[in-house]
Amino acid sequence: MRSARFSVSGLAAVVQGKESSEERMKTVGIHTLGCKLNYAESAGVAAAFTRNGFALAVDGEHADVWIINTCSVTGSADRECRQVIRRIRRRAPDAFIVVTGCYAQLHPELAASLDGVDAVVGSREKGRLFELITDFRRRDVPLVLVSPGDDTHFWGADSSGFGGRTRAFLKIQDGCDYNCSYCVIPQARGRSRSESPGAVEDRARAVVVRGYKEIVLTGVNVGDYGRTSGWSFHDLLCRLEEIEGLRRLRISSIEPNLLTDEILQLASRSSRIAPHFHIPLQSGSNSVLGRMRRRYRKEFYRDRVDAVLSHLPQAGIGVDVIVGFPGETVDEFEETHRFLSELPASYFHVFSYSERENTPAAAMGRVVPVEERARRSAMLRMLGAEKKKQFALKFVGSVLPVLLESDYSKDGAAMFGLAPNYLRVRVDADAALENEIVPVVIDGYSGGAACGWLQKREGEKGRES
Ligand code: SF4
Repeated sequence: MRSARFSVSGLAAVVQGKESSEERMKTVGIHTLGCKLNYAESAGVAAAFTRNGFALAVDGEHADVWIINTCSVTGSADRECRQVIRRIRRRAPDAFIVVTGCYAQLHPELAASLDGVDAVVGSREKGRLFELITDFRRRDVPLVLVSPGDDTHFWGADSSGFGGRTRAFLKIQDGCDYNCSYCVIPQARGRSRSESPGAVEDRARAVVVRGYKEIVLTGVNVGDYGRTSGWSFHDLLCRLEEIEGLRRLRISSIEPNLLTDEILQLASRSSRIAPHFHIPLQSGSNSVLGRMRRRYRKEFYRDRVDAVLSHLPQAGIGVDVIVGFPGETVDEFEETHRFLSELPASYFHVFSYSERENTPAAAMGRVVPVEERARRSAMLRMLGAEKKKQFALKFVGSVLPVLLESDYSKDGAAMFGLAPNYLRVRVDADAALENEIVPVVIDGYSGGAACGWLQKREGEKGRES
């Protein structure tokens, strides 16, 4: 059993502690927006509090300090950050509010000017937030601790013991050197850099000791792991794969040009590396890919998907795609739609293009109207929903090992979990099976998830049919 599970769900967790035995307990809430990497880093921030005598408590309790770990990947992420800050200020009028993360890094003045913000902490400073803000005492002028974004410093983090998630997100890499024309992340997170293989392995071992069965390797550009330090992502996978007790190792996302045959061969031999590859595409039109400054063309992308399926026929393949990029014509969009229709993918993440300040794409002109972006997005989402369903139905009659998560149906009768290939499965199961990998017979698809029933195991009573 892991030693520190917390009874909170969703993205918010609360930390409480005391400055000395004479003083009353203090509480700190952490609210995370955005990606798995941010979530792992929130856990790192929380760990600094726990190391200093604080303890996690449930969400919704009183908090003296709130830390809002923000995202800035799109305009709507920015809006959500501002809404969360306002909501938390209303809920906790006396709390010390710290805004950190990508929004804080990119817009420090704006963040500091928001009503009730007490401190703004940049990406570089996030890992030392607890040390840098020593007293958490509200002042008239907000504290701004944001250094320039071209960051070469790496700080490690993992989400074990934080926030109640069943799977652990382990940060192995940060930053990106790719400079895709629409992307603001390199400005927020700096250049590509990585944790050393030894440090990643130590962290992974500790996560397993805490009882986690699945580790998700996270970063901004995970496949770029180690390039700037002479380490290899493939070698890291070999090393992690050997860890005793680790049942599943998942790559959160990998750029197509970094998904090598060597990695696929390793995954096909491994019983631990999840046969699931989330491969950002962004467009199925070569002219749009060129304007996006992506490092491949659609033929190469298709070749990588075919390579995945030739090594791992049951693999799940996720696709990120952006619609409404500047100048994307109807023909170019239809090319993307066609490409995706023919692609043996299992799900899509569809994003409407969002102008980001100081990016080449924002200055390209030939803006696609917002309503047209929404129309294209809806079309791809519909296609994605069908792909997801068809992928799930392929497994009807199969038995899949499903890691049951702290994710329940509204009535609490069913649990959700993930198969190795990222198929989300709903099954009637007892909460005692949370964090167990159980054999599930897939028998259908409903509400965006495969449905199934627990296969009878030796000495157990199975479902009567
Ligand atoms: S690969 Fe491109 S889209 Fe992804 S973080 Fe780097 S610059 Fe942004």
